[in-house]
Amino acid sequence: MQLLGVRKVYGSGDHTVTALNRVSVGFPTGTFTAIMGPSGSGKSTLLHCAAGLDRPTEGQIFVADKDVGAMDEGERTILRREHIGFVFQAFNLVASLTAAQNVELPLRFAGRRVDRTDVLEALAEVGLGERSGHRPSELSGGQQQRVALARALITRPDVLFADEPTGALDTSTSREVLTLLRRLVDDKNQTTIMVTHDPVAASYADVVVFLKDGQLADRVALKPVDPSNPALIAAQMARLEA
Ligand code: ADP
Ligand code: MG
Repeated sequence: MQLLGVRKVYGSGDHTVTALNRVSVGFPTGTFTAIMGPSGSGKSTLLHCAAGLDRPTEGQIFVADKDVGAMDEGERTILRREHIGFVFQAFNLVASLTAAQNVELPLRFAGRRVDRTDVLEALAEVGLGERSGHRPSELSGGQQQRVALARALITRPDVLFADEPTGALDTSTSREVLTLLRRLVDDKNQTTIMVTHDPVAASYADVVVFLKDGQLADRVALKPVDPSNPALIAAQMARLEA
């Protein structure tokens, strides 16, 4: 997917905030990109515009060869259902539904046939084949995030977006979720874009894109899960925040 000259201005009249200022960046198919930057630098805005949750003020956003920037609300809803997966820091599972029922939801919203085998396979893929009948309250945080991941992937999205997916998890559970994301990129060619504050989380990506004041500040290509990556990323963050 690709962003070309994307601007996002909030508000109107004298009270406007330019959250993104002509950002152009590509996210090649089958790669894992981390987005980092100081608070208020435009990370969430970029993710929301790229995922079709919000509209850019200006510019083009190509997903599956379609320009999301030119779509109206209804078209964006369809694009999200068919081409985009999203996981959030807070998991956002439906508490009253089982793991399997949560995973089925995007298929039901899209009016697609629900194949029980596909749902169980998606849960097995994230290591939860035995937990399909459990409700979120009966699962750990890491398990809940893995259900959310299975739910995001059940429609086989072109792009998976993750907004601080490990923000609510402890270190070892974070590592499980990040290892899983990495494996999906390597084995399934799953294009993945993740916002994170954590240099260790970012170190699982292929590329780190840094934002500052709504603009692209830097782009660092990483070697595959190199132990020196977190220090490299943390140093770059410190330079941007200085
Ligand atoms: P980040 O995720 O990097 O912290 P955001 O994308 O949330 O940054 O915000 C970028 C800028 O846009 C900030 O100055 C923020 O205050 C502003 N902003 C974000 N959302 C809104 C909104 N809905 N209305 C007005 N300003 C907003
Ligand atoms: Mg944010």
